[in-house]
Amino acid sequence: MFKTIVFDLDGTICHHKASYPKMFFEIFGEQFNKHSDTWLRHMLHNGEHTGVEAVQSCFPNMKPSDQKHALATFTERWAEAQAPFTGIFEAMSLLKDNFGCQIGVMTNGPSNFQWAVMNKLGILDHVDFAYASGDTFPAECKPSVSLLRKLENKHDFVAETALFIGDNLEKDIMPAREAGWSALHVAPHEQKTNALPLMSFTEATAQAECLKVNWSSLTA
Ligand SMILES: [Mg+2]
Repeated sequence: MFKTIVFDLDGTICHHKASYPKMFFEIFGEQFNKHSDTWLRHMLHNGEHTGVEAVQSCFPNMKPSDQKHALATFTERWAEAQAPFTGIFEAMSLLKDNFGCQIGVMTNGPSNFQWAVMNKLGILDHVDFAYASGDTFPAECKPSVSLLRKLENKHDFVAETALFIGDNLEKDIMPAREAGWSALHVAPHEQKTNALPLMSFTEATAQAECLKVNWSSLTA
């Protein structure tokens, strides 16, 4: 059935235990609100980027070495603040065994920044491929049908056998459906819940509704 399952990262595989604006203030000494438009425009740039462009734009008078250092500190601390949803890696393993599929991750953001998070989570121990939109490949961010075509070509699969799982309707789910993939909109949580048999999970991929899921409830 599914030969490839691609997960979004933030809000799907992991969640953060710290406030982004608070961390921004601690590192740059200025309110995030004041810089958020410029900052986010650069952090969500649609192409190859590292994240330092955002610091250069918001703090042009800072020495280049300080810009780099501040970003490195932010990156490291933000990665430290991430926690995987309970059971997500076991769920991936179950899906992989059940479908005999490859598992991938596609996340929006600067290369270094997103990879710090993925390395903190040890993501490559659990998936077959993972990309940040700011990586040299694919150098393109969600939502994008052409980005999904790049993944198909690179990893040798067709839309009809692919499933995208994500928490963002506009960025994850709509482009997947438009590209002819299956898509599952999820709202992962950590509350106690009934077991979710794989068959019910698979059925949910054919529904439009958002699936509130505790990843640890997925069972064969
Ligand atoms: Mg997300």
